[in-house]
Formats: sequence, structure tokens, C-alpha cells
Amino acid sequence: MHNVVIIGSGCAGLTAAIYAARANLKPIVLEGHEPGGQLSLTTHVENFPGFPEGIMGPELIENMRKQAQKFGAEFKAGSVTEVDLSQQPFKVTAGRETFETRTLIVAAGASARLLGLQGEKDFIGRGLSTCATCDGYFFRNKPIAVVGGGDSAMEEANFLSRYATRVYLIHRRTEFRASKIMIDRVLANPKVELVTPYVVEEIISTQSLVSGVRLRNTTNQEVRDIELDGVFVAIGHDPNSTVFRGKIDMDENGYIVPKHGSLTNIPGVFVAGDVQDHRYRQAITAAGSGCMAALDAEKFLEEHKH
Ligand code: NAP
Repeated sequence: MHNVVIIGSGCAGLTAAIYAARANLKPIVLEGHEPGGQLSLTTHVENFPGFPEGIMGPELIENMRKQAQKFGAEFKAGSVTEVDLSQQPFKVTAGRETFETRTLIVAAGASARLLGLQGEKDFIGRGLSTCATCDGYFFRNKPIAVVGGGDSAMEEANFLSRYATRVYLIHRRTEFRASKIMIDRVLANPKVELVTPYVVEEIISTQSLVSGVRLRNTTNQEVRDIELDGVFVAIGHDPNSTVFRGKIDMDENGYIVPKHGSLTNIPGVFVAGDVQDHRYRQAITAAGSGCMAALDAEKFLEEHKH
């Protein structure tokens, strides 16, 4: 029987683990399908307080993990496939193991969205990617495209311009929702070409590898093909909450809705990070909510005399 099981090992889960471990609750952290979460897939983090020169995302995550381990948090690989929240103790299954726990912190994060094109998933690893830092290196001296108009798309376009010969930034509107500083960097980058307002209609392939994209202009419906070797999809994320559907209150997009502080509608189940936040989605807000969840879990255990 565990005091606290934490689902997720991104900023939110790791911060919850640091606080819960430091409170001597011996938390178990179930790492999930993307250990370290989104920060482990990013490059330079410039806005996490305390690092005036910035810090690399994977390094920041590694530091948090070490900090949690130092206080006694235990990490388990694997994704959660089943949860039973109908009675105490809660049961959480990941891989072949089922954990029984008095409190649960859901910090499962959010995952990259795809465009929804036919056969799109088959191109993952064959020229289509949702992670510039993971796959950028494979596109040295090749033309590529980034799809999206938010900060992620801007960041990826800039990052990928280090490797690629040309970066086509494809966006469905002529306005970008990204912040001005990020847009300005892209505009100042001679390797990036803006392609707006276009949507990707089809991924063109040669021998099962991406070799181009067919685009459609959203204003005049003109169709245009671009030859390239890679497509990076950066169009936002969906919460990783499928396993909790029908078991915890969530909104129509699948984001878990906390009721009071980090507490969900189920006493003893707390939520933190991007799985409950479609608005701020920052490393620091995820970390802050992870801290809240651990403090709330600690209080819950105290009140129930564990
Ligand atoms: P986002 O802000 O939600 O932007 C998603 C973009 O993708 C939008 O431009 C959207 O177009 C487009 N899009 C969505 N669905 C699409 C579809 N099916 N087909 C084509 N285009 C589609 O997501 P994000 O860029 O991942 O950013 C998420 C959050 O993280 C934001 O709060 C952002 O500020 C933050 N972030 C910050 C940094 C940083 O500061 N260094 C870096 C990355 C992310 P529309 O605009 O037309 O809706």
C-alpha cells in the first residue's frame, strides 16, 4: 500500500515527487510514455525563474528527477493502462504491476496533436515528426516544413534552421498566435520561409518516405506542392486523460477539472500540470500545480490519519 502514486514524470509530476518525498511519503512515480514530459523534448528554456542564462529542457528535467530521488521518490517505467478509483485504496495498473494507493496525483501531461491526414501516423519516423529536438538532426542539409502558428512552431522553425537547408513555416492563417519575440526571431531568420494561409492536404511520399506536401490556400483554394524531406507538426497538444474518461470529471476537450485547489471530484485524487491546464501550459505553472497537488495529498493523508 502506497501513500502517493504520481502518474507522469514531467515538470508537474517531478515537482509533486520532490514535495511528497520530502514529506516522507515515499511517492511512486509512474513515468509514462514520454519520460520527462514535454520539457525533455524541448531545447533552451529561457523563462524558468532562477536560470538567467537559460537552461536546456532535458537538463532541467534531469535536475528535478535527481532532486526527487534524493528525497526518496521511486521511479517506475511504463504507462498506466487502467485505474480503479471506485473505492479506497485506488488501484493503478502500469505494465504488469498494479499499485494500491491512498492518494493519486494525476500529472499525465499532454501530447502532440497530429493533422488528421490519412496515413499520417505511418509517416512518423519516415519524415514526419512532432519533436524537433528529437529528430532535427536527421534532416541535415535537407528542406523541411514546420506546420503551426504558435510559439512551438516558431521555436521549432528556428531550431530546425540550424540543420535544414530551408524551413517552410506553413500556417492556416496569415496572423500568428505566437508571441511577438518568437515571431520576430523567425522573421529575422533567412532560412525560414512563411507559407500562409495554407493547410496541408496530403503528405506526398516516395518509397514510403516523406518527399513533399500538397497544400491548399485557405483563401483562394489554390493548390501548391512543395518538395521536402521532413514535416514537423507543431499544432498544439491534447491532454493524456483517456484512461480516466468516465472516472474523473473533465471538460469537453478531456482536460481534468480540479474542484478545489488540486483536488478532483474524487476525494484523494489530485491533478497537476498540463492534463488540467489548457490556458497557461508553462513549465513553471506545471511545477507550481505539482507542488499544490503534493501539499493537498499530504493534508488529505493527515486528515485521514495515515
Ligand atoms: P498553440 O499556441 O495552441 O498553437 C497551435 C497552432 O497550431 C495555432 O497556430 C493553430 O492555428 C495551429 N493549429 C491547430 N490545429 C491545427 C490544424 N488541425 N491544422 C493546422 N494548424 C493547426 O500551441 P503551441 O504553439 O504548442 O503552444 C502551446 C503553449 O505553450 C502556448 O501557451 C505557448 O505560448 C507555450 N509555448 C511557449 C514557448 C516559449 O515561450 N519558449 C515555446 C513553445 C510553447 P490557429 O492559430 O489558426 O488556431
